[in-house]
Amino acid sequence: MTRAFVFPGLTTRVVFGTGTLAQTGEEIGRLGHRRALILSTPHQQDQARSLADSLGPLATGVFAGAAMHTPTDVTDTAIAAFHAAGATCVVSLGGGSTTGLGKAIALRTGADQIVIPTTYAGSEMTDILGETANGEKTTRRDPAIRPEVVIYDVDLTLSLPVSLTVTSALNAIAHAVEGFYAPDRNPVIEAMGRDAMRAFHAALPVLAADPGDRPARAEALYAAWCCSTMLGQVTMALHHKLAHVLGGSFGLPHAETHAVLLPHTTAFNAAAVPDLLTPISEVFGTPANPGAGAGLWGFADRLGAPMRLGDLGLTEPDLDRAAELALRNAYWNPRPFTRQDIRDLLQAAYEGRCPTN
Ligand code: NAD
Repeated sequence: MTRAFVFPGLTTRVVFGTGTLAQTGEEIGRLGHRRALILSTPHQQDQARSLADSLGPLATGVFAGAAMHTPTDVTDTAIAAFHAAGATCVVSLGGGSTTGLGKAIALRTGADQIVIPTTYAGSEMTDILGETANGEKTTRRDPAIRPEVVIYDVDLTLSLPVSLTVTSALNAIAHAVEGFYAPDRNPVIEAMGRDAMRAFHAALPVLAADPGDRPARAEALYAAWCCSTMLGQVTMALHHKLAHVLGGSFGLPHAETHAVLLPHTTAFNAAAVPDLLTPISEVFGTPANPGAGAGLWGFADRLGAPMRLGDLGLTEPDLDRAAELALRNAYWNPRPFTRQDIRDLLQAAYEGRCPTN
């Protein structure tokens, strides 16, 4: 078959390294700004304040109210703070929740964004924003959402607890899995994805034993950048849909839900497109657990990841409604499915069974 693809290009400037947080002021100036509002969660407000102190007059203040799933009432309060401070750009220091708030502000005000990610969730390289209002989560894609600059500083990930390190990395791997079979995949992101799988596979067992291992932290953050770039370029499928349903409608925690679902959604789709998932099966498969889904299940289990939806607060009666919700809107997936297929997949993830492939 003749090779055919579209590569949309990369527009976000990326600064990667150790101690790169110190370059934030330079990057604000490079974008032509002189007044930045620093964003964080309440948990990371000390870090945000210390960044603001180091920026001097370039920082007009700190808004430390970012929350999971970007509630629109928090965004309204943050925008009031943004205008009151006379800010013209935002610096989002934190995980996906803080990045989400920065994106929501940028979409409504036209502000430029500098994102400094401290988890592996991977929102920073994407044009995707998920927001919640009145208990409902909606997701949209828009070029205005994509951050202008991302500063990756390995030092900032040293404090990431082992549990979040593991689940956040599995969240990132999920972007790669769905990127490998996406209808709009391209050779650049496929190469990044292959490199990222090798890097995560080598780094995560080291970090599970010693979360302060700097070289392994650097590998994992590099892999997270690759996976975020994949997420930012392609169409996601069943895995992300199920994670969205379980997070949005049942309040399940984001990274853990991705971690538990991943082996099951991977195995389900690997049955239809095994060749496209060889970058997964080659890296994660073992003689005991060959195959992309079973290999990821064994890898996650060895790292001490949560393995059962039941342990995240979902109840067995919820599985029927979750399957209904997952079928409500049509979306692309490499393998067609019925309601019963999804119900069976959720049952296996609820119980934490090892997939057969
Ligand atoms: P998070 O941002 O909610 O962070 C979880 C907690 O860990 C927070 O309290 C945070 O302050 C803390 N934390 C973050 N980094 C830390 C560090 N280095 N050391 C210690 N504590 C740290 O969690 P997340 O998993 O990064 O992001 C989840 C959110 O991101 C969800 O709302 C999800 O929908 C969104 N997301 C969006 C996209 C997208 O492209 N739009 C992609 C991935 C995730």
